Amino acid sequence: MPKIGSRKQPRVVSRTCWTPGESKSMAFTYSTNSKRYHDTTTGKFVGRVEVRKQLDDVIDVSADRMKSWTSDLIGNTYTIEEWQSLMAEEVRMLHMSMAAAANGGWDAMSTGNWSRVENYLNYQYDRLEGFAEEIFTGEQVTNGTMLYRATLYAESARATYEGERFFLEKSAGSTQEMNILGGSDHCVDCQRASEAGWVSIGTLIPIGSRACQAKCHCTIIYRTGPKDTLGSEIESF
Ligand SMILES: [Zn+2]
Repeated sequence: MPKIGSRKQPRVVSRTCWTPGESKSMAFTYSTNSKRYHDTTTGKFVGRVEVRKQLDDVIDVSADRMKSWTSDLIGNTYTIEEWQSLMAEEVRMLHMSMAAAANGGWDAMSTGNWSRVENYLNYQYDRLEGFAEEIFTGEQVTNGTMLYRATLYAESARATYEGERFFLEKSAGSTQEMNILGGSDHCVDCQRASEAGWVSIGTLIPIGSRACQAKCHCTIIYRTGPKDTLGSEIESF
């Protein structure tokens, strides 16, 4: 059994931030004109699927970290309060980083963007509080389901990234969207979304709200196009 600890609000400490341009493994520069990342060396566009793949890698590392902390909680290395603090801070940095990546970097974040991030975070903190409470009461058993549940706090950052991209594209005047099926996504909602081709913006079930929930590896691309191009095949992304 994990140590009980007190159940006051977790302490939040700063950790390293991440956006595509700051990654050691890739050097991307964001263009506000094209709303795309470019390879800093070659100047070429970086495919949206590639950007998303890099972000998924960041999310996977974060999920592993959360799993490890939760395993340490089960092993009594942390109190529930310490564990909750670590989890809350990781959630905060990950969701902020994903929102910044979607909007073209930290400097591009507007008050409106941060306000939405705050809403995402408050939702996640509430869920984390419920999770901690269930661990405290024993309703959440300390087995594999607890580790799996912990990783969902990282996986949920995909929806933050895709949600911010939706707001960015809609406010920039994009009128159509298309689902690009993730490599490991086979849920019925993702399959249907992919088969629809180009549809009016706002038609697709948002990523994170489909049957595969936070695990969704699909991405959505956008364009401005005339009505008679709806349902057409993808040309490039
Ligand atoms: Zn999917």
